[in-house]
Amino acid sequence: MNFTQELKQELDALQAKGNLRRLPALEHDGRYICTNGQRMLNLSSNDYLGLAADIELRKEFLETLTPETFLPTSSSSRLLTGNFHIYDELEDELARLFGTEAALVFNCGYHANTGILPAVADGQTLILADKLVHASLIDGIRLAAPARCIRYRHNDLNQLERLISQHGDEYRRIIIVTESVFSMDGDRTDLRELVRLKRSRDNVLLYVDEAHGFGVFGPTGLGCAEEEGCIGDIDFLVGTFGKAVASAGAYVLCSRTVREYLVNRMRPFIFTTALPPVCIAWTLFIVRRLAGMNERRKHVQHLGERLRSRLAEQGYTTPSVSQIVPMIVGPSADTVIRAENLQRHGFYALPVRPPTVPEGTSRIRFSLTAALTEEEIDRIPL
Ligand code: PMP
Repeated sequence: MNFTQELKQELDALQAKGNLRRLPALEHDGRYICTNGQRMLNLSSNDYLGLAADIELRKEFLETLTPETFLPTSSSSRLLTGNFHIYDELEDELARLFGTEAALVFNCGYHANTGILPAVADGQTLILADKLVHASLIDGIRLAAPARCIRYRHNDLNQLERLISQHGDEYRRIIIVTESVFSMDGDRTDLRELVRLKRSRDNVLLYVDEAHGFGVFGPTGLGCAEEEGCIGDIDFLVGTFGKAVASAGAYVLCSRTVREYLVNRMRPFIFTTALPPVCIAWTLFIVRRLAGMNERRKHVQHLGERLRSRLAEQGYTTPSVSQIVPMIVGPSADTVIRAENLQRHGFYALPVRPPTVPEGTSRIRFSLTAALTEEEIDRIPL
């Protein structure tokens, strides 16, 4: 068998199991997705605040640009000639808003999560990561070898506490790694308890990914850490711009020294062309408006509650406490049929199956945005 035939055989096996992935041909029409000749309400978007299709915001932003200031490329790594002033402005603004010493911006969350841990961990580091952390964090942990990693049961902070006391003296440093809002279950972790565990020893650091919390939680939209009053206790507070803030990129809030260290040691930061300055300008434009978006935050949380109570009426239990609301069906085949039924009724919701979620917990993952209405949530055929 030659190389192509080997690949083809593997793809055929995926298809036989119903697990072959294909890029969907789709078009966006505001809140709708058009595909296969059908127009469906998008219930699978990470545009949590409903900003991606907000024409007024776009108009306002475009007014700030001229052909001279519209910079479509940085043409280089930030360490060479790509460090346009707008990067510093965004980082200064983030550090000011969060009240931290420093911020560093990356091209995406995948870069942040695959770059930070390998940069700061070594053979004397133990990483303790929640079982359900995102694939980007898992890849970052792999790249952090020879650092050792133990995964604790999802949100089982008692087990985490035991692991810390069991291994605390064996390693020079322990890094706890978690998300604040988990992407598949829509539940949250107890950040205050994590801070308490971190403080129990002086060799423990805390890494929190707020990809699904930033923009959505907190009195000014800075995330769960803002809501729980513990921004200053998190050593690596990571978030992304591709979701609630309708842009692209990611950040870490950290100390000045950590920032300088990452600039020198973090490979996905060093060896990549910086994001286009126009993209950074749009991110900054949105970030400056985040504090004023409480109505959108309240609305999307209300929609989450409404959908959860509808699911409960139908006998479903869901771990969700956020805008991500999974309807756990169980078997994959049933889940696919449910998704198809929803789509036939004009609601674009997608099935999530193993290996993305554990065997037997296939689900429809509703991902709600502030652009939806209560009436639309009530019409979803559950
Ligand atoms: N962290 C989490 C928890 C995510 O869900 C995602 C994206 N789905 C990422 C990081 C990656 O972020 P980005 O899309 O900016 O690469």
